[in-house]
Amino acid sequence: MSSRMASCIFCKIIKGDIPCFKLYESEKTLAFLDINPLSRGHALVIPKFHGEKLTDIPDDHLTELLPIAKKLALATGAKEYNILQNNGRGAHQEVDHVHFHMIPKPNPEEGLGISWPQQ
Ligand code: C5P
Repeated sequence: MSSRMASCIFCKIIKGDIPCFKLYESEKTLAFLDINPLSRGHALVIPKFHGEKLTDIPDDHLTELLPIAKKLALATGAKEYNILQNNGRGAHQEVDHVHFHMIPKPNPEEGLGISWPQQ
């Protein structure tokens, strides 16, 4: 294990050394609620393979990420949402382990009615 990997906060979450509110897990993918959400239901979808930027991740570890982000977006019931993935400090990346944000836009009239899918 590289020293970067050993100190990576998302690798620690994957290993279970740091707790998270888990939404989905498979052999290659983990999704959990963002600890500092921009809206209710703000989730992160990450590959278990450690890499800082999108270009560091092999394609077969990337393929599940968007379908899971899509499922989570549907599960919130939000009609509007953002899927974001930042690469590099200048692009607002704070955690150096690839992650997709799924950020529901709150609907003040309907609420979100979150019902997360079972694993
Ligand atoms: O894309 P960026 O790197 O800026 O986003 C990192 C995200 O990871 C932040 O939204 C932050 O709240 C989240 N985070 C988390 N749990 C941690 C550390 C960071 O959900 N333990």
